[in-house]
Amino acid sequence: MTADPFGRVVDYLRISVTDRCDERCLYCMPKGYRGWARRADHMTADEIVRVADAATRMGFRKFRLTGGEPLVREDIVEIARRIWDLPGAQTLGISTNGTRLAPLAQDLKRAGVRSINVSLDALDGDVYRRITGGSVERVLDGIDAALAAGFEVVKLNCVLMRGFNEGEYLPLIEFAAARGMPIRFIELMPVSRAGEVLGPAFLSIGELMGRLEVRGTLTPLPDFRPGHGPAKYYAFGPLGARIGFIGAMTTPHFCGTCNKLRLTADGRLRPCLGRHGEIDLLRPMRVGGSGPEDALRDAIENKPEDHGFSQCYQPDRPMTAIGG
Ligand code: SAM
Ligand code: SF4
Repeated sequence: MTADPFGRVVDYLRISVTDRCDERCLYCMPKGYRGWARRADHMTADEIVRVADAATRMGFRKFRLTGGEPLVREDIVEIARRIWDLPGAQTLGISTNGTRLAPLAQDLKRAGVRSINVSLDALDGDVYRRITGGSVERVLDGIDAALAAGFEVVKLNCVLMRGFNEGEYLPLIEFAAARGMPIRFIELMPVSRAGEVLGPAFLSIGELMGRLEVRGTLTPLPDFRPGHGPAKYYAFGPLGARIGFIGAMTTPHFCGTCNKLRLTADGRLRPCLGRHGEIDLLRPMRVGGSGPEDALRDAIENKPEDHGFSQCYQPDRPMTAIGG
């Protein structure tokens, strides 16, 4: 096990397998974005597995594949299977927008994926399209397929956006509860676009909790941690729902339990989502210089104590390029 300078054990690697996506979420991909990595600069399946293997030897146990949209990558099932086959891998998840999940759910389950996070900001088709540019029906089919495939965890992620999806929170909670799925509400972070959309659209988890408490009781579930993420979970009385809140912007000491590194699709380690610092892992590996272990160690040693979002800091790459 490897700890960073602040005593946090870092054992979770989020691997972005592509910066491409078939949706265009307002908060993730700036309008007209053209900063795509060249295909040749994307890590190959072999390179991804080599990094994951090195990570397991350093004590990493939890892996999540993300993007961009990880399911647009044709070899995603192979990547998942090969990571799961590594002796040190204890849990493997995928974060997806769900649009391509229906045909892939069974194969991903067979490959060893334990947990699926599906982003769903609205059930209403028009609201969904306004936020993501995509079609909610395909996502709902994907969720059905994931539930039928029998993953250990299938949960929903919804980004809070004042003026965009405020009418959707209760329907989403009901939808999740009816299917036994946890749902997480995420505060908007100033990644990708800090300007006109994000300022007024920010809605805190505290405000959402206040609105929910008018309708029922939120009871803390301190031991409920599906997927090992940063959410704090509550049971919500009237619906039997399990609701997680991720308040990166308003929770004091949010970073105190951070256990992860991010690996971008073009092979850079990002010790923190909210800080510019990146460590190039791929190029030294390709020229036969230092192995991934050096870069992983470097990233852990340089993990900042906290993100800089409170200064409305905007990282130099949008979320789709960093990997959410
Ligand atoms: N395409 C996949 C998806 O949408 O789930 C995986 C990548 S996406 C970048 C991962 C997560 O990051 C999604 O749940 C998305 O809602 C969230 N996200 C993206 N940009 C965000 C932002 N600016 N603030 C908060 N959450 C964000
Ligand atoms: Fe694509 Fe996910 Fe970003 Fe939306 S949040 S644009 S689905 S990568």
